[in-house]
Amino acid sequence: MAYKINSECIKCGACASVCPVDAISEGNTQYDIDPGLCIDCGACAAVCPVGAISPGE
Ligand code: SF4
Repeated sequence: MAYKINSECIKCGACASVCPVDAISEGNTQYDIDPGLCIDCGACAAVCPVGAISPGE
């Protein structure tokens, strides 16, 4: 399982700077989380100003 960033992302970059395993990278239209690296800590979801990050299914 891994956290996911949806299209509400405004590309502020807050999530990428708090991820302990550098699983978040900047894409063309939004930031993306590498599911192979994410350890489900939830740090990114806690800092996202628009609530665009949620736990995966
Ligand atoms: Fe990184 Fe934690 Fe967010 Fe996964 S849940 S992308 S490990 S900050």
